[in-house]
Amino acid sequence: MKRRPFIAGNWKMYKTIDEALVLVSHLKEAFLEEKNVDVVVAPPFTALKVVSDQIKDSVIQLSAQDTFWEESGAYTGEISPAMLRDVGCRYVIVGHSERRRYFREDNEMINRKIKATLNFSLVPIVCIGESLEEREMGHTFNVIERQINECLYNLLPDEVKSLIIAYEPIWAIGTGQTATDLQAQEAHQFIRQLLSSLYDTHLANVVRIIYGGSVKPDNIGGLMAQPDIDGALVGGASLNAPSFIDIVRFERG
Ligand code: PEP
Repeated sequence: MKRRPFIAGNWKMYKTIDEALVLVSHLKEAFLEEKNVDVVVAPPFTALKVVSDQIKDSVIQLSAQDTFWEESGAYTGEISPAMLRDVGCRYVIVGHSERRRYFREDNEMINRKIKATLNFSLVPIVCIGESLEEREMGHTFNVIERQINECLYNLLPDEVKSLIIAYEPIWAIGTGQTATDLQAQEAHQFIRQLLSSLYDTHLANVVRIIYGGSVKPDNIGGLMAQPDIDGALVGGASLNAPSFIDIVRFERG
């Protein structure tokens, strides 16, 4: 089944407002005709508003890098899905391994964030993936299965259908060490089979599963050629306009 490719740039804690504007103006200029791929940028919170204004009337869509699960209240430092919607976001990255590692986010918190995000008609980009130690101990599939079960706990099938799942092996993030095409495909296929057994085959065939971990212009083609890889969550290589543009244009090879 053909699913629409989805390429998102996670800018992490990089780019001042001025730098964000420069980057996004290059992307806007380049992506005039990207009709067959979803192109998404996830700037830091401080740059969301200016980027949102700049990409109006363009094909580029906006994502936040995180959210809290409450709508409003005394939660110092947090930002709600309602606020993200207000600023023009369509997507929210949830459960990135850096949030799990530095802010102790667990699957239960991520499940709450996913539900809150969906309640505000935003699309969660749900990150899962194993550590190097877990892979070396042969636990990759167990870890993925647990993350899927717990992160998607109590979601309705229609909600699951609308999600983007990002498989990001932790050992490949920011390390320059990409999973091989086959390692990535094997994990994506496992996730799709899991969705099929938890829900049904149609749902599993509809959900987009994207890969993240040192994606670059020279490895995107091989990854995208895999039957169960529907796109990429790109960190480092999305901070530079030419490399992100080349990644989005993977099909032109
Ligand atoms: C990420 O931030 O999700 C990521 C995959 O980073 P990088 O592409 O730099 O490995």
